[in-house]
This record gives sequence, C-alpha cells and structure tokens, in this order.
Amino acid sequence: MQRQDGVVLAGSTSEDVGFDKGVTESARHSLQNKAEELMPMLKKYNIQNQWSGLRPGSQGNIPMIEKHPKYNNVYLNTGHYRYGLTMAPRAAAIVTDLITSHG
Ligand SMILES: Cc1cc2nc3c(=O)[nH]c(=O)nc-3n(C[C@H](O)[C@H](O)[C@H](O)COP(=O)(O)OP(=O)(O)OC[C@H]3O[C@@H](n4cnc5c(N)ncnc54)[C@H](O)[C@@H]3O)c2cc1C
Repeated sequence: MQRQDGVVLAGSTSEDVGFDKGVTESARHSLQNKAEELMPMLKKYNIQNQWSGLRPGSQGNIPMIEKHPKYNNVYLNTGHYRYGLTMAPRAAAIVTDLITSHG
C-alpha cells in the first residue's frame, strides 16, 4: 500500500507472542521479499522503519463489550483481534448505550 506522502507500506505478519511488541529479522525478510516480488522496483529503496502492533484477542475471538463484573464505573471494550478498527463505530455505540443506561 502506498500512502499519500509516497511511503510504501508492506505488511503484515501475525504471530501469537503475548504482549511482545518486538520486531524480527525473519518477518522483515519475509515482508521485504514479498513486496519486492510484487514490485521489483522496491529493490532500489532502503527500508525506513519496521514496527509491530498488537491485535488484542479473547477466547474464541469474541469481543468483550460489557460492564466490568466487579467495578461499577468500568466498562470493557476489548478483544477485537483483527477487526478493532472496522468494528469501532458499532462498538463505541454499544459502549455509549451501556454507560448511559447504567448511569
Ligand atoms: C498490523 C495490523 C493490522 C491491522 N489491520 C486491521 C484492519 O485492517 N482492520 C481492523 O479492523 N483492524 C485491524 N487491526 C486490528 C486493530 O488494530 C485492533 O483490533 C485494535 O487496535 C484493538 O483496539 P484496542 O483499543 O482494543 O487495543 P489497542 O489499539 O492495542 O489499544 C490499547 C491501548 O492501551 C494502551 N495501553 C496498554 N497498556 C496500558 C497501560 N498499562 N496503561 C495505559 N495504557 C495502556 C496502549 O498503548 C494502546 O494505546 C490490525 C492490527 C495490526 C497489528
């Protein structure tokens, strides 16, 4: 994918590593190879950055959008795994309903 500023973004990998946000050489190689296979002209350019992010999951990958079972003033909206961005508008509406109906 190319951003409006011209930066080409190649991603991503998916690994089960808990909260470890480190990056690996093997992931870099694999992504670089795939990107250069698709766009050979990328071989002329240096990699500027490599980073990782988390996809917070839950058992069965069913998101938890609920009032905390123990604390009255805490609401949970987590476990969206690969779809947290796509689901955000609906999840936010559900959380809003929960908060306003629980006063
Ligand atoms: C490479 C990649 C591609 C993705 N692509 C898509 C996509 O195309 N579409 C899609 O829908 N989803 C995508 N996702 C998934 C999406 O990013 C997640 O589902 C979403 O970000 C989860 O939102 P969240 O708020 O639960 O967690 P996060 O976005 O991880 O937010 C948690 C926040 O809590 C903060 N935090 C953590 N610990 C503490 C602490 N102790 N104290 C205070 N703050 C803390 C963190 O800094 C972070 O800001 C992708 C994820 C990755 C990694």
